[in-house]
Order: sequence, then C-alpha cells, then structure tokens
Amino acid sequence: MTRMLYYEESYMRECDANIVSVKDDKFVVLDQTVFYPKGGGQPNDTGKIIRGEDEFQVVYVGKFSGEVLHEVDRPGLKVGERVHCVLDWDRRYKLMRSHTAAHILASLLWKGTGALVTGNQLEIDKTRFDFSLDNFSRETFLPYIANANELYKQDIAVKSYELPREEAMKIEGIIKMAEAFPPEVQMLRVVEIVRVDKQADGGTHVKSVREVGQIEFLKAENKGKNNRRVYYRLTN
Ligand SMILES: [Zn+2]
Repeated sequence: MTRMLYYEESYMRECDANIVSVKDDKFVVLDQTVFYPKGGGQPNDTGKIIRGEDEFQVVYVGKFSGEVLHEVDRPGLKVGERVHCVLDWDRRYKLMRSHTAAHILASLLWKGTGALVTGNQLEIDKTRFDFSLDNFSRETFLPYIANANELYKQDIAVKSYELPREEAMKIEGIIKMAEAFPPEVQMLRVVEIVRVDKQADGGTHVKSVREVGQIEFLKAENKGKNNRRVYYRLTN
C-alpha cells in the first residue's frame, strides 16, 4: 500500500518515490506520495513526476481499491524506477485553506441551525456548499459568513488524528456530512479545529485557521429543503 505522505505532513510539497506499478502506460502507483487523490469534496492535486531529466505531468490522481493512482500525460515510466514528485503547491495550498474554511462554516451552521451538509465541492476559484435547512435565505446565511470571517482572524490550531470508529462516533457532530463513512472503515481520521469543531474527514488542512484569510459570499440557490446551495470564495 502507498504511504500517504499528505496525511503525515500536509505541507510536504515534494518527495522521492519508487514506482510500484504502471497500468496502461499512464496510471502510476508509487511506494509513497505527496499527491492527494480526489475525494471528500477535495479535488486531486496536480504537479509533476520527474525521472532524471524527464518530466511527466500529473493530470489526475484518484484512489482505487486502496491504491493511489497517478495519471501522467505521456507513457514512459517503468516499474522499479526512482522518481521525484513535485506538487503544484499554489493549487494545493488554496484547497487546504478552502477546506479548513468549509469546516468552520459547516460547524457554525450546524451549531446555529442543526443543518447538515448534503454536498460540497471545493474548487480553486470558489466553494459550493449544499445543506439541509427548512428556512433559508441569503439574509439568514450572511451572518454565518461574517462569524466565520471573525474566526479566520484567529490563530486556532488544526490537528488530525485517527480514532477507532466506535470512539469517534461518540463525539457530537463528528459527521456533519450526510454521506457517512462506509461501515467497513474501522479507524476514522478526525480533523479537529481546536475548541471549534471535530469532523471525520479525509482531506488536507492548514495548521492554523488564520491561514484561511477571509471568505466572501457569491450567491445562493434554493434547490429544495435538502439542497440549499451557496457559493463563496476566498478573497485572496
Ligand atoms: Zn472536510
């Protein structure tokens, strides 16, 4: 199984690795990787895999039956080769900031209204958030953005650790996403924003809430009681 360095150190931008397998000349499995595979509303990383003087662009990263598969733009990489991985860090760091921002907003909404997140998608230029709520309008939502922006000014630590499923499930609000973790998952990874939120989560986050910066509301759409949709973005 691939060692997932992005969980051990989310700020790691580069690593050396050995190629474990190559499928169809373009899907590469490494013994360890800094590339985050698409999942949990967080898009995959991009970047490059370098072998000697040769660069291969990583165009997609996904997780399939426990393996992290790196799709490269051209054939040529072979099993057993030693390579160097480099992330497109600007992209990843923005996604980390957006992800931590989303957890705080979800937590404030849940505490204020009991709303659960029914879907979310982080993108580079905006974040989409769907939640279930009876009464919803732009006016009811804006104060949550304002409160979140107050929190983002603070140096609050963000930590992650694993807990046995049974223990994790005792934490109130541990799963605010409607799509729960599959029951075969015995250890849950918890992302804790100290004194603000604990959420079962598979994504990458910043170390301090202050790194988020500020967010601004873009628009709201009403797609039914279980699907209030809002868009917002990081202001820088
Ligand atoms: Zn998350």
